[in-house]
Amino acid sequence: MSRSITVRAPAKINLLLGVGPVRDDGFHPLDTVYQAISLYDDVTVAESAAWSVDVEPIGDVDVSEVPLDDSNIAIRAGKLLTAHHGIGRHAAIGISKGIPVAGGMAGGSADAAATLVALDRLWDLQTTDDDLLAIAAELGSDVPFALIGGTAHGTGRGELVEPVADHGTWWWVVVPNVEGMSTPAVYRAFDEVGSDEHSGGSDTLAVRTALESGDLDDLAAALHNDLQGAALGLRRDLVVTENALRQAGVLATLLSGSGPTFLGLVADQDRAHQIREALVEAGHDGVLVATGPVAGTHLVDYV
Ligand code: ATP
Repeated sequence: MSRSITVRAPAKINLLLGVGPVRDDGFHPLDTVYQAISLYDDVTVAESAAWSVDVEPIGDVDVSEVPLDDSNIAIRAGKLLTAHHGIGRHAAIGISKGIPVAGGMAGGSADAAATLVALDRLWDLQTTDDDLLAIAAELGSDVPFALIGGTAHGTGRGELVEPVADHGTWWWVVVPNVEGMSTPAVYRAFDEVGSDEHSGGSDTLAVRTALESGDLDDLAAALHNDLQGAALGLRRDLVVTENALRQAGVLATLLSGSGPTFLGLVADQDRAHQIREALVEAGHDGVLVATGPVAGTHLVDYV
């Protein structure tokens, strides 16, 4: 049997997502505070004659929209890493997916980060941290954060990440939506609506101060997502989801990234499970409980 390596990477949420006006290169400058939460994809790699990818769900996650060809970001990550080292090796990549797909929680980015770390170990490539972060940034704006995890301030298009102090253990009720949302479509709607309000600076500071003190009410008051208005404009059904979370008694609601997943901040684990049960009884599917911050991409098995 050939050697295999399994690496785990977490989902992300954006406690603050400040989005500036679109740049000439088509990207939007971001001022964001990421948090890694306890929903994970596990990626297992083994040497193979050709690149391949296989995906299996964890729990109720719908994996039907995940591509199984070379467009899968895990294969793109593998190709970029081998090109960087000038080697002609290939791997079979298996993904166990616990992060809802196209949900605004960067599941694909998690797979890319996990693949980079797994292949680096499998082939003992000893890629430096700086090179790994640079390759990650080339794959996508959220991939560097998936590598480092925890809680971090993100700038540039989100790829420049700096860890920040976070002294809380925060609990989230996570409400995915069966119908995923295209990130570019949400940004287009954001551009069309146009806005003079771009969060950053003092908004970021408010989130960082709440995290540093561990104050739940302050964090509840500081959560904000500039894309939320545009996303709710595209998908009115999400207003129903947000109202359901509010009625169930969460302290604050927040759209995750570009959506459609909605998050509710709650006081503790028991409260999170109570609210999850209330939402399930009210007919909401696939509701999850998660905590953060959690570690970034890390090795879990070596066979
Ligand atoms: P983003 O905000 O980065 O656009 P997301 O968090 O909303 O993404 P992802 O689960 O990363 O959503 O998937 C976005 C799209 O990327 C999917 O609809 C799918 O077509 C494509 N994709 C490519 N590779 C993967 C992968 N390994 N896992 C999930 N989706 C993938």
